[in-house]
Amino acid sequence: MNKKLYVLSGSSGVGKGTVLKGFLSKNPNFMLSISCTTRKPREGEIDGVNYFFLSQDDFKKCIDENKFLEWTTFAGNFYGTKKKYIKQCLEEGKDIILEIDTVGALNVKKQMPEAVLIFIAPPSFEELEQRLRGRHTEDEETIQKRLHEVRKELARGEKFDYKIVNDDLNITVSTLENVIRGEMQDA
Ligand code: 5GP
Repeated sequence: MNKKLYVLSGSSGVGKGTVLKGFLSKNPNFMLSISCTTRKPREGEIDGVNYFFLSQDDFKKCIDENKFLEWTTFAGNFYGTKKKYIKQCLEEGKDIILEIDTVGALNVKKQMPEAVLIFIAPPSFEELEQRLRGRHTEDEETIQKRLHEVRKELARGEKFDYKIVNDDLNITVSTLENVIRGEMQDA
């Protein structure tokens, strides 16, 4: 059976990390894709497990050689997913899932139209706004910036293959399982 790459995205504060954790704990045959980064490992992080840690020079060389399926910069560091890594995982018959931002997901689709993009959406914009405000960690200006970003993310989410509204965690995880099961039967 042909394996597919599943790309999971969502706007910030939507709880996609929790959804993914719930999914992976019920589907241990699925592996999470490992990205490359130039940031330094945090305590306890292991090269080849959490990330492939690269030097800036090596990362830039890979960009020049067009080795990334997609890449981005975040807080002064480079992040990206290697084409060869995904290709190898799929050839080895692994079910692989990539958790990435919406821009990265759409870039993956450009290079790999067969990748399945799944967007985790908030029940409503208002609810997401409440969740962001409920954290009480950011000032109004930061919240407004984040909400502006969220609107852009929701618009990008419309271009995904599937949209799952995260209202109830268990239902979201089951829906994600159903989506993936359906795609696996199509493969
Ligand atoms: P952290 O440094 O906290 O592990 O990750 C910082 C950010 O980089 C997170 O938002 C994470 O989702 C994003 N990120 C990690 N790997 C990749 C990747 O391969 N591609 C893209 N576009 N973003 C990534």
